[in-house]
Amino acid sequence: MQKIDYLTNISQTLSWDMRVTMPKGVAEYRGAEMGFLAGQIHALETSPEMGTLIRELELSPSSDPLLQAMVKKARKNFDKLSRVPEELYAAYADHNLKTEHVWAEAREKHDFRMVLPYLKQEFAYKKELISCAGFADDPVTGLMDEWEEGTTRQQINCLYEELKAYLVPFVQRLREEPQPDPTPLQGAFPKEKQKAFCREVLQTVGYDFDKGRVDEGAHPYTTFNFRNDIRFTCRYFEDDFTRAVLSSLHEGGHAIHWQNMDPALDGTTLAVSTSLPIDESQARFQENMLGRSLPFWEHFLPAAEKYFPELKGMSPERFYRALNALRISPLRLTSDELSYNLHLILRYELEKALLDGSLAFEELPAAWNELSSSYLGVCPQNDTEGVLQDMHWFSGYICYFQSYMLGNCYDGHFLYAMKKDVPAMFDQIRHGDFSQILNWNVSHIHRFASTKTPHQVLWDAAGEELSAGPYLRYLTEKYTDIYRL
Ligand SMILES: [Zn+2]
Repeated sequence: MQKIDYLTNISQTLSWDMRVTMPKGVAEYRGAEMGFLAGQIHALETSPEMGTLIRELELSPSSDPLLQAMVKKARKNFDKLSRVPEELYAAYADHNLKTEHVWAEAREKHDFRMVLPYLKQEFAYKKELISCAGFADDPVTGLMDEWEEGTTRQQINCLYEELKAYLVPFVQRLREEPQPDPTPLQGAFPKEKQKAFCREVLQTVGYDFDKGRVDEGAHPYTTFNFRNDIRFTCRYFEDDFTRAVLSSLHEGGHAIHWQNMDPALDGTTLAVSTSLPIDESQARFQENMLGRSLPFWEHFLPAAEKYFPELKGMSPERFYRALNALRISPLRLTSDELSYNLHLILRYELEKALLDGSLAFEELPAAWNELSSSYLGVCPQNDTEGVLQDMHWFSGYICYFQSYMLGNCYDGHFLYAMKKDVPAMFDQIRHGDFSQILNWNVSHIHRFASTKTPHQVLWDAAGEELSAGPYLRYLTEKYTDIYRL
């Protein structure tokens, strides 16, 4: 198990290198290296020795709950992976990296056709992999199950129907209201100053720079590695420093989650997030519920003045309204918190159609543009603004966007539970004190890593089952105030 842990972490570090420092020319060779490592991990996880060890431990169960949890996880993994031929596993890992590189090039050239055959193959591989896991008839459930075990297409459909029925008309209504003044966000913000400010923000909210590092990267991304080495990347835009701040808070949220897993879990294979939606909830909580709140900017706006003198004298309230104004965009990453959800709905509907064969891959860009016009009222000008904007589908993260949506829904529950336990939380934020918020997250979520199911985490933290209700309540309260409805 320790070997698997080491190899997984080595593979994560190589993947960080690939995205941050690796020369372009070595992409193919790196693909082969990563494929080799994935094959080695797979071989260890499915070896006859592993099968025997698991059986022995099941026959004479240990009284140690950690060991019990490890055996349970190893059994699930063993049964699932044993059904996947090793060659398929390695071939897929290799293809995955190539697709990611072709996507980057296609994106630069605004040309979806360049990456079309790779994307088709990516989906085909994924379907084959989940067929091995027993999900041949229901690929959406099979893919969701990879990110959060037990989540089904039917559950996601129900949640999405509720969110769509509320959010599409709500966004439409806000579009017709007078819009907040956008000028407080405008200016020229040097990249080096942004890096320094983001560092101050991250240190204040609890990111430990002795256990990680932040580098510049084209696509923000966190390595899910050993808890003392959680790195991430950030992108800086000199005309808007809030994008880097919010992106740092997002990736930093993932990183803080991982940095605070119980040290007793080191080397056990249990020191990973219990599900990707829970992981995303921790990122989105920092980004949206803290980073887009008024108390946050009541504290950080005066701090930002040290780096950006043009902000001197700016009212936090004006800044907060500008930051949360609707930003309807064809791009998910430049959208406001509210219309962002419509981007997720669009992606889910297209993924479902591609997976059940009702949409041909060749038709994807046109179908994308059509849905964008229908839900958001904006049509992408080219493939880069449309179907090529996100790396996810091109790096195997199919049906992953639901993790953001589920993460948002988890956050609704977590926010109201935290408010109950820490009634002064927003006063504390106003004074730059994030310690009780961090403690709440660590003691209710982070430290358990994967020793609790997502369901247990939510139940123990909030005493509720997952629903869209609290998240929609949060959005309604926030936007009613911002738009003075
Ligand atoms: Zn994330």
